[in-house]
Amino acid sequence: MNVATDILPRFKFDNSFARSLDGFFVPWQATQVAAPRLWLLNHDLARELGLDPAELESALGAAIFSGNVVPPGATPLAQAYAGHQFGGFSPKLGDGRALLLGEIVDVNNRRRDIQLKGSGPTPFSRNGDGKAALGPVLREYLIGEAMHALGVPTTRALAAVTTGEIVHRETPLPGAVLTRVAASHIRVGTFQYFAARGEADRTKQLADYVIARHYPDAGQAQNPYLALFEAVVGAQAFLVARWMSIGFIHGVMNTDNMTISGETIDYGPCAFMDAYSPGTVFSSIDSHGRYAYANQPPIAKWNLARLAETLIPLINDNTERSIEILTEAINAFSDKYNGYWIAAMRAKLGLTMQEDSDWDLTNDLLSMMEEAGADFTGTFRRLSRAILGDDTSVVDAIAFKSWMRRWRARLQQEGRAPEVVATEMDRVNPIYIPRNHKVEEALSAAVERGNMAPFSHLLNLVSRPFDEVAGNEAFTQPAPASPIPYQTFCGT
Ligand code: AMP
Ligand code: MG
Repeated sequence: MNVATDILPRFKFDNSFARSLDGFFVPWQATQVAAPRLWLLNHDLARELGLDPAELESALGAAIFSGNVVPPGATPLAQAYAGHQFGGFSPKLGDGRALLLGEIVDVNNRRRDIQLKGSGPTPFSRNGDGKAALGPVLREYLIGEAMHALGVPTTRALAAVTTGEIVHRETPLPGAVLTRVAASHIRVGTFQYFAARGEADRTKQLADYVIARHYPDAGQAQNPYLALFEAVVGAQAFLVARWMSIGFIHGVMNTDNMTISGETIDYGPCAFMDAYSPGTVFSSIDSHGRYAYANQPPIAKWNLARLAETLIPLINDNTERSIEILTEAINAFSDKYNGYWIAAMRAKLGLTMQEDSDWDLTNDLLSMMEEAGADFTGTFRRLSRAILGDDTSVVDAIAFKSWMRRWRARLQQEGRAPEVVATEMDRVNPIYIPRNHKVEEALSAAVERGNMAPFSHLLNLVSRPFDEVAGNEAFTQPAPASPIPYQTFCGT
């Protein structure tokens, strides 16, 4: 579509990826769509990006976020990457239905990617149609915003548009495009792309770019590539510990879905667990539970080992020595992860000091919760009521009373007033998460009936997940018991 550029909203693009990494992408254009309509615009995020939300709440906004109009300064491109999917290596994946428009340095001086997802086929589409359906687009929008509000590093949603076209999945569905904002879309799989072809100079070029963009401190280290790797290990250990602390299951932790920045990416079959059970899997295609809740830390470490393999030629001239050094750095994941995890769990229990016994205290609570089938989110939220005196119906287990005594004694050791502890706990233990049945209700109202009210209501609640809002008890409860286990689907 040709539009006079002087009437277009100003995106201050500064496209370092396109400038610096020739060969890592294919310049490409979105497929024109019939009738774009803006369904959601993230005003706060738009302002963060230096954009004017009022200007984007228009037909022009819909045209831009559908890909029909390329804003001035954008250099749309499809990124190349490879990846291990469920353990098997695919040398060529890439953006099969996404386009990077460019980067904006935001008002906080952070460089952010602006990407369209669902904008039509690219040279990386293989057998896919390059499209996205409204339900999964809204799902990614909602869960990403919830994660952000929960303090978890994540890509975010700037806009959702429908295209006025039908996409064909098992049934015909309304087509949609998500505009996604990320620290970058560089993945473990991006490193694997050239490394798998033995092109170490290309891997080095990418590593240099990533150091400059994400981990400038590593550039000052004695061995910058090792420092880069250690930084990514730390970022991923932090991220996965955060997931575990809120009962989040990503569902498809392939190496092409693991960012180098340490942000959560690609909300496909992800979901939050209700009843605490370490083996929980929601994804319909994860039949062996590779990406089950409790497997997430070891899988993150496995994925990092795949990243390490790509860096072998950069670490030391002696391959054996390189492998030794990287192995040590991979093995550091466990300690880093454990450190972040116990810190998150201490905060959930209102503890500020560090005692070795905190490990047993936490694990004993979790074992009790598992046996009782206790709701993960609800249990932690109720614990703050328990220290204020109401310890009924926190966990339905005989051992709970004696656990409570241990926890109280541990809290007394810190000597803080129960009211203070309870208030702090309520700032880390959410009351509202995107409960699976509530997400499904909101998505079917939107997709089947064009009614966005339930979605907007849920989005509001999960955007302030720690603040109780009267009249929303139904959003604090796990799904009613069902004979059919909850399942989520990929290929969105
Ligand atoms: P995902 O599992 O969504 O992270 O995607 C894995 C790979 O499949 C990536 O290369 C995607 O670009 C590609 N892909 C997923 N869905 C589609 C689609 N509908 N059309 C084209 N490529 C797709
Ligand atoms: Mg992906």
